[in-house]
Amino acid sequence: DVILTEWGDAFLLPRLRALAARAGIPLRLNRDPHDTVRTRRSRSYVTYGQVVYQAGGQMLHGRWHIDLRNSFIYSEGELAGLLEVARLSGIPVQDQARTSTGTAISSMQVQQAVRDGTLIPWQKSEPEGFKTAAQLILTDKGGLTYQPLVGVYEQVGELDFSSMYPTMMARFNISPETIGCACCPDSRVPEINYSVCRKRRGLVPRVLDHLLERRMYYKRRKNETAGVERDLYNQRQTALKWCLVTSFGYLGYRNARFGRIEAHEAVTAFSREMLLQAKEVAEACGYRMLHALVDSMWLQRSGAVREDYETLAREVTRATGLPIFVEGVYRWLAFLPSKMHKGVGVPNRYMGVFDDGATKVRGIEVRRSDVPAIVETTQHAMLRRMFACRDLAEVRAALPEVLALLEETLVRLRAGEVTPEELVLTTHLSQEVADYRHNTVQAITARSLDRHGAQLHPGEAVQYIITDRTAKLPDDRVRPYTLLGSDWSYDAETYAEMLIRAGETVLELFGWTRARLTRE
Ligand SMILES: [Zn+2]
Repeated sequence: DVILTEWGDAFLLPRLRALAARAGIPLRLNRDPHDTVRTRRSRSYVTYGQVVYQAGGQMLHGRWHIDLRNSFIYSEGELAGLLEVARLSGIPVQDQARTSTGTAISSMQVQQAVRDGTLIPWQKSEPEGFKTAAQLILTDKGGLTYQPLVGVYEQVGELDFSSMYPTMMARFNISPETIGCACCPDSRVPEINYSVCRKRRGLVPRVLDHLLERRMYYKRRKNETAGVERDLYNQRQTALKWCLVTSFGYLGYRNARFGRIEAHEAVTAFSREMLLQAKEVAEACGYRMLHALVDSMWLQRSGAVREDYETLAREVTRATGLPIFVEGVYRWLAFLPSKMHKGVGVPNRYMGVFDDGATKVRGIEVRRSDVPAIVETTQHAMLRRMFACRDLAEVRAALPEVLALLEETLVRLRAGEVTPEELVLTTHLSQEVADYRHNTVQAITARSLDRHGAQLHPGEAVQYIITDRTAKLPDDRVRPYTLLGSDWSYDAETYAEMLIRAGETVLELFGWTRARLTRE
């Protein structure tokens, strides 16, 4: 008995209950007539420089209420994924739906400790402080990165270590209580020289063993099945993937019950060592490494095909003891230069098409949430044309067509023939409306909405259109999307600049810089 809603926590259920109370009509949302609806307050909190708004909870007795818009795990793994995590963490489904995978991991570790008879630190963890692996990589430079060699390439192979960090934590027995043990002085972490226990299996690896094994099973079943069954296995393995990712973040988080910074350092030290070993194996086989990022590497060797990369993956797995897979072989791939430093590569900024036609794009406008639809759809159309090409010669031949797509939009934009939906921009409030001191677009939009009676919280999204970026009066510069009215106009040149910038992103390596695009 499950009620799925969209916006049930923040709006639907509180509103329904208020209306029912006002009308004097009993509203029985619970199956159990003696219980009231359990609520949780909404909150805004800061996690790594970003303010996030989380709606409260409306939880029922005798049936479950899950708000699709207020559940990270549901959005990633749907119902099967949520149930999988709740079952493992022992956290009630309605609570698990509204909490992080980090809390789930903590709960699994506590259960393991209770089962083992281990004492548990009496310390409350703060769920908003943990870092995900991606954040750690950015903030701590924990993993190894080789700057990409800017340029366009053909027949590049991408090899990815599977769940690298959690796999290493399990394989090398990394846990708060196994690092720096006194009984195994000969077993050392590379570079940083802490000892790691060989005699006792750590608590964190014991929990991970179970998760890794389950996920591997689900992934195997996913490949053996089809249709609805396949979807269920995929949802479960996706939910577990997020638990595994957070397990590494929690290891380095000092407020976590089973976290310790030295354990976290040991993982990143092992990961650098493993990636170096992988690089050596690849180079010994005649490959050139174009880019490497934490647990992925992009390699090229003249004439190499899929089977060659598969052979290389087996060699690397043999050398490192960690499973690595061929993510794919690219028909063509471009490592894009930095917008700020000419000619310099940026990690994780590339676009390419695999030999099966699948495409992969990272770090550019189409992937970002802060560009208007007109920029996104135009760049997407340009990329689609380019990705239809089988090699770089075909891409170059198709450039006139690609440029025409950009020009078409620019003409339409300057002729005033675009809709507000194409121009709207979304931004998130970083503080209370009254606390804004400068006339940023957030501030102008938020104040304007506030004057019209909107209740805004830090972390909430607001939408606006640029009406005249350089206007004297702040209120003339941007206008909230919801208050657009019929007398609106837009700043065509500012939007044209965004379009040309997005065009340059995908065309610069083919000889079309912003200056040339503007000129021609
Ligand atoms: Zn030991």
